[in-house]
Amino acid sequence: MLAYTYIEQGKFELIEKPKPVLLDDRDAIVKVTLASICTSDLHIKHGSVPRAVPGITVGHEMVGVVEQVGAAVTTVKPGDRVTVNVETFCGECFFCKHGWVNNCTDSNGGWALGCRIDGGQAEYVRVPYADQGLDKIPNAVTDVQALLVGDVLATGYWAAQISEIHNEDTVLILGAGPTGLCTLQCVRLHNPKRVLVCDMDENRLAFVRKHHPEVLTTTSDGLKDFVLAHSDHGGADVVLEVAGSEDTFRMAWDCARPNAIVTVVALYDGPQTLPLPDMYGKNLIFKTGGVDGCNCKEILRLIAQGDIDTTPLITHTYPLRDIAEAYELFENRQDGVIKVAIQPNV
Ligand SMILES: [Zn+2]
Ligand SMILES: [Zn+2]
Repeated sequence: MLAYTYIEQGKFELIEKPKPVLLDDRDAIVKVTLASICTSDLHIKHGSVPRAVPGITVGHEMVGVVEQVGAAVTTVKPGDRVTVNVETFCGECFFCKHGWVNNCTDSNGGWALGCRIDGGQAEYVRVPYADQGLDKIPNAVTDVQALLVGDVLATGYWAAQISEIHNEDTVLILGAGPTGLCTLQCVRLHNPKRVLVCDMDENRLAFVRKHHPEVLTTTSDGLKDFVLAHSDHGGADVVLEVAGSEDTFRMAWDCARPNAIVTVVALYDGPQTLPLPDMYGKNLIFKTGGVDGCNCKEILRLIAQGDIDTTPLITHTYPLRDIAEAYELFENRQDGVIKVAIQPNV
């Protein structure tokens, strides 16, 4: 089968590999119907994910049809349409039992697919702990609607959930890339009074205004004044930092009101400064990610009833044989791209 493979730093290649087989009773083999490209794939390509193993098939955001299951798998069967979770988790350790699946202590726990074990930008993928890693897609939900459930949408859902958003809150979201846009949809489920979105890219802000006319948008120029003008207590009640740019961590705590919750979802390229003397007395509460991606069932239910719709985010579709072209487009942010869908079996 064809599999897009991490060869060495700076180089991915579409190569022929054997179809994966079950290695454990709890594994499933999934025939991939749609995969997508994530910014984390680019981080692997550029060598900024040291634990990524050369030779692995990349891709950790996909949907497909179960082809085969191990003897111990109970929740899915061959023929089921499923979303694949970005995270591998055992469901049994201390962290899994608390829902902190990102820190599952299994040797393959956390982000393994498409990083340390073969992922889904391929015709087939082996999913360990299939009872945890796969969720059945309801009949009312299409593959395209479900494509982002296991990764960026799970992240947005989790970020909004841990941010303790109340009805009277002004929520500031920094970053309107794919994860920021998913976060925005999930924040709105909590019905805050106001949502402000900041991004440097005017096209992305236009996308936000088109799909969410009630959301207020701004670039980072004059951001603090904008937040002060549109909040009730001298800053945002909740800030979600989803940008991960050079200055966005500072913006996040600077735009927060005293006693605000600042949720840091972004993955930075380098260390950030926490200038405690400058924020002394502000009494902020910081929360940080890696997503605990164990809410996929609930997210699928919200999609089925029309409360979440990420289909407008999927702006381009390519067959797997043209995946290098899709990467080129995604990496260089050409043609207004937000997310790219890859079709392996066409
Ligand atoms: Zn990802
Ligand atoms: Zn575990």
